[in-house]
Amino acid sequence: MKGMPTFHSRKGSKSSYTTFNQNGNIYIKDNILYLPSAQKSPVKVVGLKLNTHRALPQAGKIKNVTVTMNTKGQFDVCINVAFPMEIESIGPPANILGLDYSQSHFFVDNEGKKANYPHYYREMEERLAKEQRVLSRRKKGSKRWEKQRLVVSKLQAKVANQRKDWLHKKAYALAKRYDMIVVENLDLRAIGQNKYYAKNQQDNGFGYFRLYLKYKLEQRGKYFIKAPKDFASTQLCSICGYKNTALKGNANIREWDCPSCGNHHDRDRNAAFNLKLYGERYTKKEILPQTVVV
Ligand SMILES: [Zn+2]
Repeated sequence: MKGMPTFHSRKGSKSSYTTFNQNGNIYIKDNILYLPSAQKSPVKVVGLKLNTHRALPQAGKIKNVTVTMNTKGQFDVCINVAFPMEIESIGPPANILGLDYSQSHFFVDNEGKKANYPHYYREMEERLAKEQRVLSRRKKGSKRWEKQRLVVSKLQAKVANQRKDWLHKKAYALAKRYDMIVVENLDLRAIGQNKYYAKNQQDNGFGYFRLYLKYKLEQRGKYFIKAPKDFASTQLCSICGYKNTALKGNANIREWDCPSCGNHHDRDRNAAFNLKLYGERYTKKEILPQTVVV
């Protein structure tokens, strides 16, 4: 297409470019998206007829546009629009939820409910790992390698999409139901570098999940809280406040009895309950307000 930048057509790999709105050089008129053309092109402006999924928000300002050429040679356009939103605070939160990150369940809440990561997704992830192993055995650059690389990249996109979709739905359901959600301030990157944890693909998912929760709650005038790093959500007894340091660094202890008050605890649920308590104290201003920006 005239004026469009040249897309390198490497089979299977996506070609895309992003262009930013400068002084209104990106605009929509009569359902046609006008974009500045690529440099050196004789054409000044490119017009793309739009087939939109949903109406663009009124009074929105186009920030940037990403054009991707799909495998059929069509252009997919992603328009990033900023628009003002009035957010009204809900006032003091009534319904507070604590969420503890869990390696095997994704998260456990203060009632002991688990995220229920769909079994089907795990199967897909296992299939992806298998195809990746096949790829690693093939000679790099060979025809068979190239063929397998395509299989892996398609599957990767599918797995990533369905996981993102699930994270959004989960975050949406929680943000609708609760007024405040408290999570721990885990350094997910540090976990990712840990040999044992790195195998689990969900770990970066929890980072995204926190982000989605944050904006979905804040959009509704609700609260997203990250307990500070020095808050020992795992070690504290949620009944009496005793700090059980034996739990530190020992992920194998799944259940424990408090040496001080004798109450029996499920490790994850107790941690989530402590996070909920943190949120309650936060709202009563018993502790310094300390939200950490994601
Ligand atoms: Zn206790």
